Amino acid sequence: MACPTGKQRFRDDFEAKLALLRVTTSNSPRRQEKRAYHCPHCHGWHLTSQAKKHRKARQ
Ligand SMILES: [Zn+2]
Repeated sequence: MACPTGKQRFRDDFEAKLALLRVTTSNSPRRQEKRAYHCPHCHGWHLTSQAKKHRKARQ
């Protein structure tokens, strides 16, 4: 299933977090993904480097 975001899609949060772990443990400067999120478009999971846009609860 193609996702309109064009991002790599993971079928569940487990796979996404595994991929996230690989990204964060590798030292590639090009990959800055910080968290996994559920996609409302394809109902899969993606990685993003952005913090949540709404409400800055921390700080
Ligand atoms: Zn998606």
